[in-house]
Amino acid sequence: MPPDFETQLRAASLRVTRPRLAVLAALRDHPHVDTDTVIALVRAAQPTVSHQAVYDVLRALTDAGLVRRIQPSGATARYETRVGDNHHHVVCRSCGAIADVDCAVGHAPCLTASDDQGFVVDEAEVVYWATCADCATARNSQ
Ligand SMILES: [Zn+2]
Ligand SMILES: [Zn+2]
Ligand SMILES: [Zn+2]
Repeated sequence: MPPDFETQLRAASLRVTRPRLAVLAALRDHPHVDTDTVIALVRAAQPTVSHQAVYDVLRALTDAGLVRRIQPSGATARYETRVGDNHHHVVCRSCGAIADVDCAVGHAPCLTASDDQGFVVDEAEVVYWATCADCATARNSQ
């Protein structure tokens, strides 16, 4: 079991605040949501938290490495609490649904460049563009 959020915040030298805990809990329960959705989730639990506070918390948590920010091309930025690995994402072209895909092998960069051109590669950023099951079903029943 991963350390609890209070432990994670303290380990990152961040003060434990209710908005930070609320954002982390929202992202744990709803991975890959955008900023507006995080705001709605946090304010449903804590109506006094301002939009700006959520923006600030997302930036602080991302900078501290407690939250990962992903931005598939053409989509708004999404956030998740699954950090520390180089997992990838499958994205539905129709509805934008996102799911995690584990690395093909072990650790970053996890894909070997056919020619690294002398660069030291440390990460492969892969997006699998796809049609999700719901969209495929809807399309087939048209
Ligand atoms: Zn879809
Ligand atoms: Zn993910
Ligand atoms: Zn990987």
